[in-house]
Amino acid sequence: MDMDLHNFELDELIERIKQGDHRLIALQIPEGLKIQALDLMDEIETETASKVVLAADPCYGACDLVHDKMRMMGVEMVAHMGHSQMNIDSGMPTQFIPVTYSGDPELEPVLPFLHAHREIAQGRLDSTVTDENELSEEEAQERFLDAVGRLAPLADAKLGLVGSIQHLHMLEQFKTRLEEAGFRVTIPIGGDRLTLPGQVLGCNYSGDDPTVGHYLFLGSGDFHPIGLVLHTGKPLAMLDPYTGDASEMSRSRIEGILRQRFGMIMAVQESKSFGILIGEKPGQMRRSLALRMKRMLEKHGKKGYLLALEHIGPELIDFYPVDAFVNTACPRIAIDDAVKYAKPLITPFELEVSLGEKKWENGYQFDEIP
Ligand code: SF4
Repeated sequence: MDMDLHNFELDELIERIKQGDHRLIALQIPEGLKIQALDLMDEIETETASKVVLAADPCYGACDLVHDKMRMMGVEMVAHMGHSQMNIDSGMPTQFIPVTYSGDPELEPVLPFLHAHREIAQGRLDSTVTDENELSEEEAQERFLDAVGRLAPLADAKLGLVGSIQHLHMLEQFKTRLEEAGFRVTIPIGGDRLTLPGQVLGCNYSGDDPTVGHYLFLGSGDFHPIGLVLHTGKPLAMLDPYTGDASEMSRSRIEGILRQRFGMIMAVQESKSFGILIGEKPGQMRRSLALRMKRMLEKHGKKGYLLALEHIGPELIDFYPVDAFVNTACPRIAIDDAVKYAKPLITPFELEVSLGEKKWENGYQFDEIP
């Protein structure tokens, strides 16, 4: 990763620190960029009268704000890097810095994927949807596992152009290039948790709508692509601005995840007691959902224990004498990390399916935080 191509917007940050005459600020920075933290701290301390504390715990999103702890330490302002502001109140002056990356990959390598995906999307648009009332239980369970068949009808087959925060400033330019290559392109606008057009988070894909038939994701890694395809079932191509590599999220990968989720739901059907995990991070805290899960378990004659944690890991919960866990914190803990846990770890929707409160045939429902 070429750090020189990242824009940490230090001039603006330094100006704001000087204007506020701050004497102690905190820097919160995601794992992939922490290697730069000490240089950033040096520069801020050289250019201003402020000292800098690094909030050195892991940080994976703007859901994870450290303001309460930093306030207790006497910090006057937080610079939160690598994420955009969410619909939660940070409670103190905060500078959100997206840390944009100016690498500009060629479009050419991703075009074959986009052509193939457009065909699939057009085929889906043209096909009729089976009447769900006619499905047998077995067919309904199969539909649950089918990453494509579970979808709501499409209204169009446009290409949805999305990305992670570092690359969103490139989307308009890419839209033009894709249109020149013959695609009809839309940059989805999401809900309150998302700040910028085309933005996706690991827990929120609210920009998706029936006019989008397939996606191009501008970014690296498969964290966002996995969530987007689980959420939508739509074909997705990826273009990595750091390497220029193009790829696609394979259908077999998503079906593997759905099979694993199906297995978890089946595994908890006889479970009698559950730990219900509540995330303590401000943007992950879903207290009402956790309480609703507890009431639902009680209605079915089962026991639910509310467990509040800031960090969630096997060593912190596996020892509780319950049969399984329901996670209301970051949705990706259950989806991406379930194999690390000794007991089944399921999402609230999966609990509802296992209790018969939701139906298989409506398809897999990604646990989105709105
Ligand atoms: S809740 Fe999870 S997926 Fe959502 S922003 Fe936070 S860390 Fe990312």
